[in-house]
Amino acid sequence: MRLSIRLSIPSVCANPARYWQTTDNALFFDLTYIDWDHSLAAALFWSAAWAALFIKDKRIAVVAFVAAFSHFVADWPMHNSDLALYPNSDIHMGYGLWGKLGVASWVLEGVFVLTLAVYAWIQSEKRGVSMLWPSVVLALLFLNLSPWLSPMKHVATLNEPAAHILHGILVTGGFLLPGAIMTWLINRSELKAK
Ligand SMILES: [Zn+2]
Repeated sequence: MRLSIRLSIPSVCANPARYWQTTDNALFFDLTYIDWDHSLAAALFWSAAWAALFIKDKRIAVVAFVAAFSHFVADWPMHNSDLALYPNSDIHMGYGLWGKLGVASWVLEGVFVLTLAVYAWIQSEKRGVSMLWPSVVLALLFLNLSPWLSPMKHVATLNEPAAHILHGILVTGGFLLPGAIMTWLINRSELKAK
């Protein structure tokens, strides 16, 4: 871990035994160094970088910035004090609801997502766009990240380097694949409604 901090490489540590004490709830891994993707300064930088891609239309650029930065805002109440102010800063933030609430924090995240999904459903229905399949995928993802079904539960018990390699593959895939599937499903619904 020290080596990776010196090299500033994001690092995680398998922690199969202490599910709710880990710094990321459904990962079964401690997020020991996430300053380049999860610090406040990094979040502002990445959000600005994302917004810059849409700079031709200032309104869209602002929405893109807010959408990207909402990740940090949503992370803050949940994370267990591993969100640095800036890379390599000694100051770390995060209200720590994962640690404080345990299983209830998973339920809380579900209620939060459900509220947003219902809002999206109602708004889309007004335009004749069905959110049925995106909602089905969302529900499956939520169950998959439960304290009982998270694939990380098994991965964290593997020997090294298998644990870290599989962790990397699952986290990368876990962000890209659902995003791609949801985009495809929503675009399909939008096209059908036209
Ligand atoms: Zn995050």
